[in-house]
Amino acid sequence: MKCTADIDTRDVEELYINIDPIQAGGRLTVDAQKAAIAYSDGYSVCDNCRKPFRLDYIDKPPIADFHRDCAEWLNMDVVRLVPGARRGFQAVVSSIVEKGDPALVTALSHYTEFASLEQAGADIHEIPKDEHNHITAENAAARIEDVTRETGKTPSILFVEHVDYQYGNIHEVAGIAKVAHQYDIPVLLNGAYSVGIMPVDGKALGVDFVIGSGHKSMAAPAPSGLVATTDEYADIVFRTTQVKGDITGRTFGIKEVEMMGCTLMGVTAVGLVASFPAVKERVLHWDHEVKNSNTVADALCAVEGTLVESDMPREHTLTRINTVDSFNKVAEIHKKRGYFLSHSLKKNGIIGVIPGSTRVWKYNTYGLTDAQIGIVCEAFQDIARENKLNVS
Ligand SMILES: *Cc1c(COP(=O)(O)O)cnc(C)c1O
Repeated sequence: MKCTADIDTRDVEELYINIDPIQAGGRLTVDAQKAAIAYSDGYSVCDNCRKPFRLDYIDKPPIADFHRDCAEWLNMDVVRLVPGARRGFQAVVSSIVEKGDPALVTALSHYTEFASLEQAGADIHEIPKDEHNHITAENAAARIEDVTRETGKTPSILFVEHVDYQYGNIHEVAGIAKVAHQYDIPVLLNGAYSVGIMPVDGKALGVDFVIGSGHKSMAAPAPSGLVATTDEYADIVFRTTQVKGDITGRTFGIKEVEMMGCTLMGVTAVGLVASFPAVKERVLHWDHEVKNSNTVADALCAVEGTLVESDMPREHTLTRINTVDSFNKVAEIHKKRGYFLSHSLKKNGIIGVIPGSTRVWKYNTYGLTDAQIGIVCEAFQDIARENKLNVS
């Protein structure tokens, strides 16, 4: 089937169990799919935009309500929609980091965190991870001290991942935020792998900014995401335009500079808002998702030579697995080489493992039904047995 002569229909979610590490939390709800079709035209959410002409004031569809509810849900004061977590980092950094300022990220930070700081001309330093692949308050404190001494300035911001993209480990955010605040350093929580799939309480974590990714973890179309902050920082990051045209004398009301006025204007905004009730509900079942994640991790560990490199037991659905001494041994002699694993999985109705990778790779079990979890476990073990690996 085709969408156009050159564009195939996409049917992977209909035909397969998808364990792709980045796609699991972004699958749309049926409500979001319906809303996305209805609002597929460009500036569709602007039908009922009235004075003062800003996205977060639109009542129909209920975008204004969403902004209030979402801030409350995250236990923060103010929320804005942005085109992806990365644009959230960019808005915050552009507001509070000056060229040459020291800034802290972690040894597990995502490239988009670096890019937002590079764009601002920051002097970027990493907080090292410990031997368990964790970012700790102790290492954060030591790094703040070192960087402050070396540069003569305290860092202008500290980024910390709630859950990192490499291991899917949960980090000591509250402790890190407490340390950073002793030096008056604002803390940005990167919730790309938490907001929308697990409970997040910004005040309990003690952070100044919470960034979420709609298309990674909020069952929303891409590019979408959010920035949440406190009243203290809202006036800075969401400052309104002060500019005036020098010939026309025009001014631009309450448009926010970092938001470029308005951000998500159609399918992205309405899709994220349409999924929000289901997203609020699903985070309450995070324990069950974690249980399923452990079931799959245990099933893989039963294949001799397989190691989970993430924390065990799992506390998240994203997992990094090392199969150098199991599936990679098969790859060395198999006629399909490393492609045998993704190929065999596909024959079992499973996709999302990068074709060719049999050494260290990641998968995400988020959102699978119990029956699908069973199929995934069985498939990995059947593939192992077929290829003469021991399964205990
Ligand atoms: C995916 C990801 C991002 C980027 O999110 P976007 O919404 O695509 O900008 C940032 N940080 C981490 C840890 C991620 O996993």
